[in-house]
Amino acid sequence: MPRKETPPKPKPLISKVCGACREDFVTHRPKAGRCQPCIDQGQKIKYRNCYECRSPFVLLDDLHLNCPSCADAFGLDQSTLSPEQIERLREEERLSEFINRRDSLLQWLKDRERRYKRKPPIPNPTQYDLTMLGLL
Ligand SMILES: [Zn+2]
Ligand SMILES: [Zn+2]
Repeated sequence: MPRKETPPKPKPLISKVCGACREDFVTHRPKAGRCQPCIDQGQKIKYRNCYECRSPFVLLDDLHLNCPSCADAFGLDQSTLSPEQIERLREEERLSEFINRRDSLLQWLKDRERRYKRKPPIPNPTQYDLTMLGLL
């Protein structure tokens, strides 16, 4: 009995979300990031830097803060921050608040110093000339 030739396996279709228009699309290429219409139109994939590892990830939802692998590592949704991250965010907020307060205080001090250092008013040139004439 002759061996049956197995036909080449068709590449499986993968369902993906387009990184540009965020629509679902199917592709044979596992690395495809955009749907065909977006590739044709030259639409760019949107990226955001991960709040945790700071590396860019494809932004499929504006609410996403973490890249998929960091979200996985935390066991969280991409739009959710871990308690440590929230604490860090609060810390950053406190710090920027502190810096703002410090900057406005510095500005206030500088302004005050400038007011104290203001030079006496320059005499009116005409008056000055007259004085000179009077002296002559
Ligand atoms: Zn698309
Ligand atoms: Zn990450």
